[in-house]
Amino acid sequence: MAARGSQCCLTMATRSYSCKNNADKNVSFLGLGNMGGPMSANIAKKGYKVRGYDPVKETLDAAAKRGVTSTSSIAEAVKGADVVISCLPSSKIVLETYLGEDGVVKNAAKGTLFIDSSTIDPNVSRKIFCVAQESGKHFADAPVSGGVMGAQNATLAFIVGGRKEDFDRSLPILKCMGVKQFYCGEIGSGLIAKLTNNMLLGITCWATCECMNMGIKMGLNPRVLLDVLNNSTGRCWCTEVYCPVPGLIPTAPSSRNYDNGFKNEHMVKDLELASNMALGIRSPVILGAMTTQLYRVIESRGFGEKDFSFVYKLLNEEIKNK
Ligand code: NAD
Repeated sequence: MAARGSQCCLTMATRSYSCKNNADKNVSFLGLGNMGGPMSANIAKKGYKVRGYDPVKETLDAAAKRGVTSTSSIAEAVKGADVVISCLPSSKIVLETYLGEDGVVKNAAKGTLFIDSSTIDPNVSRKIFCVAQESGKHFADAPVSGGVMGAQNATLAFIVGGRKEDFDRSLPILKCMGVKQFYCGEIGSGLIAKLTNNMLLGITCWATCECMNMGIKMGLNPRVLLDVLNNSTGRCWCTEVYCPVPGLIPTAPSSRNYDNGFKNEHMVKDLELASNMALGIRSPVILGAMTTQLYRVIESRGFGEKDFSFVYKLLNEEIKNK
């Protein structure tokens, strides 16, 4: 496995960054959804010239209100860009976006740095890296952790794989969007670390939903239960930041009807990618495989667009009609 034995180092942002003195002033941002929207806005806020592209007009218009110049195609978006950042839904879309006829690699200038923050198959990143390199362009996989709140508050963690010099070059821009930047090693290793994290997240979120539902149905006050968990050994990111029970953490997607969060369909995608990775090296992932199937059931019941913590709502049997 490519990333075995590779080193992972962490760079902490200690001060606020702007594009002053940075050669890479022109940024193209592809995919302006729940994550890409606020991420691109945070770069624009720091004085970079950001041109954005998204096929959904409303999404493009929303980004324009936050300082991102709208474009009508990938080719137009990457014109004149020093750096191209993408945050897209799937491996297939990322592959088409970069290697398609009208894609990024064909249209960007030599020397351009591509930073893909989508969560996708590490093999897709390796493929794009090779094609980009052959035409004198640079590619890094840089998936993110921290959710929509992290994207909005510029507190994301970037988990990067690729050439170390490209990681160093990307830092000023990554620091506009987040507070932690990990260099994990060669191309694809950022994604391996990210998929490992998300399998763990899928398992802990499902477990949190199950156990909180049980405690509440046994008559506990939800707020008291959350307080107990957060001061006990069952504590995790879901109990501290992303509580699946509505109304306990105002910023969590559960408190806004499970909308505008990390979509259940994206969690299914990440679990499938992680399961495939595990299968490839015959690493047992018993809970991971089971959790993949469970989230798939939620998706097949028509709740793919809801945040993945929606599991709680279903277990709690509060759904009457969607
Ligand atoms: P999203 O569906 O809200 O946004 C994706 C955007 O990409 C959409 O606006 C869509 O119209 C656009 N798009 C589709 N095809 C395109 C193309 N060819 N060119 C340009 N734009 C295109 O998804 P999201 O929640 O923003 O997630 C994006 C990526 O980030 C996914 O890979 C996801 O797994 C990952 N991620 C999401 C979260 C989260 O909490 N939402 C957290 C970490 C990582």
